[in-house]
Amino acid sequence: MILDPEIKQQLAGYLELLEGKVFIKLSAGSDAVSQNMRDLLQELTTMSPLISLEEAVLDRTPSFSLANEQGPTGITFAGIPLGHEFTSLVLALLQVSGRAPKVDDQTIKRIKSISRKCDFITYISLSCNNCPEVVQALNLMSLLNPNITHTMVDGGVFTEEVASKNIMAVPNVYLDGEPFNSGRATIEDLLIKLNVQSDTSSLENIEPFDVLVIGGGPAGTSAAIYAARKGIRTALLAENLGGQIKETVGIENFISIVYTEGSKLASNLEEHLKEYDIHIIKMQRVKQLIKKDLVEVVLTNGAVIKSKTVIIATGARWRNINVPGETQLKTKGVAYCPHCDGPFFKGKRVAVVGGGNSGVEAAIDLAALAEHVTVLQVSEKLSADVILQSRMAQKPNISVITNAKTTEITGTDKVDGLNYLDCTSDETKHLKLDGVFIQIGLRPNTEWLEGSLELNKFGEIVVDKCGATNVPGIFAAGDCTDCPYKQIIISMGSGANASLAACDYLIRN
Ligand SMILES: Cc1cc2nc3c(=O)[nH]c(=O)nc-3n(C[C@H](O)[C@H](O)[C@H](O)COP(=O)(O)OP(=O)(O)OC[C@H]3O[C@@H](n4cnc5c(N)ncnc54)[C@H](O)[C@@H]3O)c2cc1C
Repeated sequence: MILDPEIKQQLAGYLELLEGKVFIKLSAGSDAVSQNMRDLLQELTTMSPLISLEEAVLDRTPSFSLANEQGPTGITFAGIPLGHEFTSLVLALLQVSGRAPKVDDQTIKRIKSISRKCDFITYISLSCNNCPEVVQALNLMSLLNPNITHTMVDGGVFTEEVASKNIMAVPNVYLDGEPFNSGRATIEDLLIKLNVQSDTSSLENIEPFDVLVIGGGPAGTSAAIYAARKGIRTALLAENLGGQIKETVGIENFISIVYTEGSKLASNLEEHLKEYDIHIIKMQRVKQLIKKDLVEVVLTNGAVIKSKTVIIATGARWRNINVPGETQLKTKGVAYCPHCDGPFFKGKRVAVVGGGNSGVEAAIDLAALAEHVTVLQVSEKLSADVILQSRMAQKPNISVITNAKTTEITGTDKVDGLNYLDCTSDETKHLKLDGVFIQIGLRPNTEWLEGSLELNKFGEIVVDKCGATNVPGIFAAGDCTDCPYKQIIISMGSGANASLAACDYLIRN
């Protein structure tokens, strides 16, 4: 039995929601993965009379494809979609059976409007928590549009295919055999990359809001809920709901909840938002703010939304070290997410650039898989918490080099090493490596605000103790601001703070 009893029980509950027939074609050989895939699919057929299975020959073995009564859907799984991909399997089965996806009509219309043929392949690892969003987006596109096909390929199974493409970071999407996207992406990101414009007619002539929150992470969600609870006209606009917590596996410092996971907290945030009268505008990106009598928020698709006050909560993303080789070798051995890409470095030699909490956590994580991990820290001492440093000291396959300034990541098709300046001897030294994980912190998502309001030298929005920026009526909260500590609970608190300040501003102006 491939499914443990708890997962099987969960799956049984989901399969009760199937609305029509699902035909599975399985291409399997005699290897162990094929056998496990066959066992899983046979188990599915015993769990629902609507699922049937037949053997077939598909492009990859082992793999299986999904069809419904209308015919093939273009969805194929080359690998066993358990681990983080379990939800992708469940959603694919439900949607193929006819259950409506939780995507707005606009997005469905845009997906259906794609007239060119698109064959997508997404390379994933089962431990990657950024991969399911991409897999699910492309599966949905494949289901809704007969011009599109999508195959999820587990890099841990198709190791030669992945090696031949020098793929060392996931998710990694290929379109018609060419690299298309690497890293996390929402349906909106993928549609923008495919040049499918959104229909902004539903946003035209929309009445101005009292409070418009930009960002759907912990700070934005908290700000919107606080504003809505005052009974004022509130909107939340975001590229994706959840923000960085969607990249987080375990969360142990969300006080009052001993342990949760990023994806669970993200869906709890969305549920909480929906309890209130909040106009949610998802999958839209803001490109500019113009302060007139009202604040005008300009979207990348050209639409303009007006509001009396705005709260910016656009968060942050991984920072680059900006040395030669970093951009060229991204996904070819240069990685940022140890949870996602760690499995590609099993038995290999890797370095972690950065000796703060995220660098040391990454090193501890990677030490379980990699042959050896070297942590490079530019200053004299590691800056990670002492508890993490002592945990790291117990790992025999981690070494630390301090006073080491990374100057280049070397390699042609893939990473073969790293050069660093030994700041003590002033000598340039070389490390032979298969991978480099950059862990030097985060960069605020505020480039689009340059010239509109005051930013500090790190690009963070300068706020006062109430979350007010230097422009009246515009507030900011969370990781995009100059608050010194970037944490979920702090972002939520600052979202609430900025929201109460915005409400106060509305009363006085
Ligand atoms: C791997 C990882 C692990 C972490 N682990 C922990 C942990 O264990 N505990 C903890 O407390 N913290 C942790 N953090 C930090 C925590 O996730 C952040 O502090 C928190 O998410 C910040 O919330 P935020 O709302 O300010 O921003 P974000 O979570 O970054 O959300 C930003 C929002 O803005 C939207 N957005 C951005 N730009 C635009 C735009 N131009 N237009 C429209 N929308 C836009 C995004 O789509 C998103 O909705 C972790 C972070 C990472 C990356």
